[in-house]
Amino acid sequence: MDRKTFIKTTLGGAAALAAASTGIVSCAAPGAGKKKHVPLKISFQEGLTPGETLAQKLDFIESLGVTGFEPGGGGLASRVSQIKEALAGRNVKVSAICAGFQGFILAGDPAVKALFDSTMREIVRAAGELGSTGVVMVPAFNGQSPCMPHTRETRDYLCEQLHDLGEFALSCGTTVILEPLNREEAFYMRLVADAAAIARDSHSAGVKCMGDFWHMKEETSDYGALMSGGEYLRHIHIASRGRRVMPGEDGDKDNYVDGFRALKELEYPYYVGLECGLAGEDRAAALTAAVALLRRQWDEA
Ligand code: MG
Repeated sequence: MDRKTFIKTTLGGAAALAAASTGIVSCAAPGAGKKKHVPLKISFQEGLTPGETLAQKLDFIESLGVTGFEPGGGGLASRVSQIKEALAGRNVKVSAICAGFQGFILAGDPAVKALFDSTMREIVRAAGELGSTGVVMVPAFNGQSPCMPHTRETRDYLCEQLHDLGEFALSCGTTVILEPLNREEAFYMRLVADAAAIARDSHSAGVKCMGDFWHMKEETSDYGALMSGGEYLRHIHIASRGRRVMPGEDGDKDNYVDGFRALKELEYPYYVGLECGLAGEDRAAALTAAVALLRRQWDEA
């Protein structure tokens, strides 16, 4: 084979391989260029949902066609049967579990680390029983002390510890979800890409990450941040973008279209969960308006 034929053959082969692996075809497929149909799955945290009882809260969630419910992790083990019974026969599932453990994974004090290990595993076990996508966790808040120093060795240690925790979560049928926060709350892990890289380097399919539109004020791009989460993205939190109240209560600031576009391109199958306060007086009305706003922007994305 002369050099010219070799180049022609190998380039042709490479192009065919690339087309096969990406699904690219030489002429436009029917529907090419149209937006993908990806459903928006909204979730409400338990604490922000109106209702005196769990059943009343779930009634409200269902009345808006919302399908996810995010309880806190504190005391979750003792609530498993209560939550299961309340959800039976409804079109609502537990989305993620929001933290609730004691201690923290990067604690400098072995007793505080041991407290994290035992309380987190208890919540992970309950999360698995409830069919949750995962349990949200932060490695260390700014105020938690003594904390392991922010070094390369600490990152290696974190990945090792998360590996074990991730494998345990998988054995329970769930995951642990790393949440990057903004610098005022946690300097250690602030970007979705950083959380995704830590999840990857933990070498366990039980370690995932999330994005929170409120904390994502650290990011330079909503779209870029969520795309960087990629296959590791397991949950999303959302709030208004000025005061962390209901989406829509901060007016034009509350634009999520760019981030939603990333989620749709990723065909993100998990939940977008409201985690926010309330500026107005009427919680039910604010939630109803927020859901309408999110659905409108999702369609637009
Ligand atoms: Mg959050």
